[in-house]
Amino acid sequence: MPRPDGRRTLRLTKPLRERIVAGHPWIYDRALAAVPPEVAAGDVVTIADAEGDVALAFADPESPIRARVLAPPGTRLDAAWTRGRAEAAAARRSRDPLLAGCTGRRLIHGEGDACPGLVIDLYDTTAVVVFDGPAAAVFWRPRLADVLAGLERGGAVIAHAWLRGERRRTSGATSAGEAVRGDAPVDLVIAEDEARFVVDVRAGQKTGFFLDQRDNRRTIRRHAGGHTVLNLFSYTGGFSLHAALGGATRVTSVDIAPPAIAGLQRNATLSGLAAEAHEGVAADAFDFLTRAARQGRRWDLVIVDPPSFAPSERAKPAALAAYRKLAGAALAVTAPSGRFALASCSSHVTEADLLDQLASLAPLRLRAVAGAASDHPVLPAFPEGRYLKFLLFDV
Ligand code: SAH
Repeated sequence: MPRPDGRRTLRLTKPLRERIVAGHPWIYDRALAAVPPEVAAGDVVTIADAEGDVALAFADPESPIRARVLAPPGTRLDAAWTRGRAEAAAARRSRDPLLAGCTGRRLIHGEGDACPGLVIDLYDTTAVVVFDGPAAAVFWRPRLADVLAGLERGGAVIAHAWLRGERRRTSGATSAGEAVRGDAPVDLVIAEDEARFVVDVRAGQKTGFFLDQRDNRRTIRRHAGGHTVLNLFSYTGGFSLHAALGGATRVTSVDIAPPAIAGLQRNATLSGLAAEAHEGVAADAFDFLTRAARQGRRWDLVIVDPPSFAPSERAKPAALAAYRKLAGAALAVTAPSGRFALASCSSHVTEADLLDQLASLAPLRLRAVAGAASDHPVLPAFPEGRYLKFLLFDV
């Protein structure tokens, strides 16, 4: 039955009230009674149990994540609510000392900023918006003007806003873009400390750049001085440039996508780095490692940051085997007494899973463990939000 406010109620079939109130924002299909057919993707619904109302959420009847929690029951989801959430998210960035010297930043990190399914990255003064799936698009699209107004009140300067689209569930690809403020953006240049990166917000990966590895790139910078560095899955050279700025003697970067390697060369020049100190290779990382091992090549510091191998829980065993194979091949070209860094961006693979896979490969010492950069906040009650793991080892 619709309630007087026209909203439908979805009933919990599991005792999740406490977790939801503690801040866990996802309600899975197995925890909810059947969703009535009149409820469409993106509709605001009330989540309830036998005791009464628990939360407001938007529904996603086609997804295993059936509902994403928005607010306590009774909250008016009006323009002031929307602006308030965005303002708080932007204000957290304005106060963050780790973002000083960086003109690329994540302004809204979905669930971590209490805006489920909404991602907004800022490159200089261009905001890039992504909706995580069709339900998030239905909920957030009409609220976008209020979101931008709130971000500005929180200190963000936004001259252009580009809607990258909604992330497709299976491929991760986004739909064609659209300008929501200003013109369609051209290539932008951002600063990350002394490094400079060209960002293609229309066709680049994610929203154009992997902002989440910022603090890990800084860690690599501090470990690279005087060493040779191999950066596998380099994209446009995030880790490579920071390693070079940290005094690496020579950096080899490998990515399967030729445009990524071309972008890396451009970024190195923009960052004032000598082209001779860089070797950019457009190749499959596994093939490259086989060849390098056969040639007896070694690097002092080897970085491995592959795309997600485990898009679902079901893909996890195969993903763990792939991490193990990749790490084994990377360790085979790591110099004795060298250093090895491994990142995983799959929320299904935990730090403990990775350590398990690595333990028998080589005598390793874990030196540092980290997650995503400070503008990608994590809710303590929401372990699924800890998708990025970064592990640094002595070999
Ligand atoms: N470390 C990067 C981000 C890496 S994203 C940064 O800090 O910016 C993963 C990259 O892996 C993508 O650029 C993709 O083109 C590349 N890639 C995917 N499969 C690959 C493969 N088999 N071999 C080499 N690179 C691959």
